Amino acid sequence: NTTPLPTELSLDLLRGAVRGEVVVPGDPAYEEARRVYNALHDRRPAVVVRAADAGDVIAGVLFARDNHLPLAVRGGGHAVAGHGTVDHGLVVDLSRMRGVRVDPLARTARAEGGCTWGDFDHATHAFGLATTGGVISTTGVGGLTLGGGMGHLSRRYGLTCDNLLSADVVTAEGTLVACDAERHPDLFWALRGGGGNYGVVTSFEFRLHPVSDILGGIMIFPLDGEVPRRWRDLNAEAPEELNTLFVTMLGPQLPFLPERWQGRPVCGVAVCFTGPTEEDEKVRGRLAALGPVIGEAVDRMPYPVINTLFDEDLPPGLYHYWKGNFSREVTDGAIDVHMTFGQTIPSMQTDTAIFPIDGACHRVGAEDTAFAYRDAAFSTAFGASYTDPADTERNIAWTRAYDRALRPHTQEAGYINFMDTDDQNRVRANYRQNYDRLRAVKRRYDPGNLFRLNHNIAP
Ligand code: FAD
Repeated sequence: NTTPLPTELSLDLLRGAVRGEVVVPGDPAYEEARRVYNALHDRRPAVVVRAADAGDVIAGVLFARDNHLPLAVRGGGHAVAGHGTVDHGLVVDLSRMRGVRVDPLARTARAEGGCTWGDFDHATHAFGLATTGGVISTTGVGGLTLGGGMGHLSRRYGLTCDNLLSADVVTAEGTLVACDAERHPDLFWALRGGGGNYGVVTSFEFRLHPVSDILGGIMIFPLDGEVPRRWRDLNAEAPEELNTLFVTMLGPQLPFLPERWQGRPVCGVAVCFTGPTEEDEKVRGRLAALGPVIGEAVDRMPYPVINTLFDEDLPPGLYHYWKGNFSREVTDGAIDVHMTFGQTIPSMQTDTAIFPIDGACHRVGAEDTAFAYRDAAFSTAFGASYTDPADTERNIAWTRAYDRALRPHTQEAGYINFMDTDDQNRVRANYRQNYDRLRAVKRRYDPGNLFRLNHNIAP
């Protein structure tokens, strides 16, 4: 990189303009401030602006632009592609901006741009309300919403971006723009699936739904193709209140799974049922009919709990290399591939998850938001997660072979939030007929492509 580093004088000016913190190499906070969730992206930014408010975000964006520094924007820092950090550039880190204000009468919540789903669920659950979020509580509201957002409530309440009502955005010009269906409607449209391409969202306003206690958890079965085949049928006829994710993994070392299954390839169904308690037994029965149950941890629980159940398996600091694919159906061929690769899952942290994105997700048109794959009924996330960097080459090769084997059974593109750094060539396909409009909006709000550390839509 030939970009000159910012001078002490210019950094002093930046410090004067920022209420949060400006962290540079050598500062005690630097090692922590430069890191993101995926340890594979071990980068050394020149400056990290830990923003306290929209004013700090503006200062950071203008500083990066004026000093020609590559700009990374970090919400929850979970992007598998490591977009929340950058060598020799400036990071606008939103992790201090985590306030949530709930309006229980209007059933809306406004969340600052650095919130995690844990922050959000905690605040809205106090009022018995929720919206679709991620299945791990440490994932950021920012990146997840901007890419689309799928989780335990998608079948009933749509993608996360379908629940977005408005957003405040700091643009490449360093101005704060409020957008919704009436104000800057093109920008608002592009934010709902277009990723971090359009600016820094300092706050998101969401629609909420009455969700309080749910029936949730996981049922585990031996790795056998009959289980996903029956799960597929269950999903096809289940009411939208019943959201189930199919997973393959190595049997977790948890008390509810007999020791002889721990560390062995298994499959499972993670369930979230938002229907009435009286139907719990029926739901349990339907799940138990998917195959011989070898472990079960399914119970009534507050909704935020289901989004923390798997947190411990995926702490920050692991290495990750992932892929994602959409499909209209889970074919027998795809199931065979999942069973084959299920036999060689490389680590305890690795899993494959098939998210259903039918139901309410299909009631939004393919051109109503930037998220174009409204005919897809499933979104699969797969790839290796591991602890030892020495395994990187082997795990990348495993994931790529899995991807090659799965492609004939899936649609052309995959969810950008499950795609890695080397998937930039799939971005266009991901947006299909919406791509040209997304480029036009990009030209209007970021003609210089300041926001390019993302699955980039070049102006
Ligand atoms: P970051 O790395 O901070 O940001 C990701 C991208 O979004 C970057 O390009 C960044 O610049 C941009 N960005 C983030 N915040 C803002 C903002 N406020 N304004 C502008 N740009 C911003 N996805 C799902 O849909 N459902 C899941 O259940 C799910 N589970 C996951 C579990 C794990 C363990 C992981 C690692 C990922 C999961 N994902 C899931 C994928 C997730 O949606 C993406 O990783 C997403 O990018 C995370 O957002 P973030 O804010 O944490 O990440």
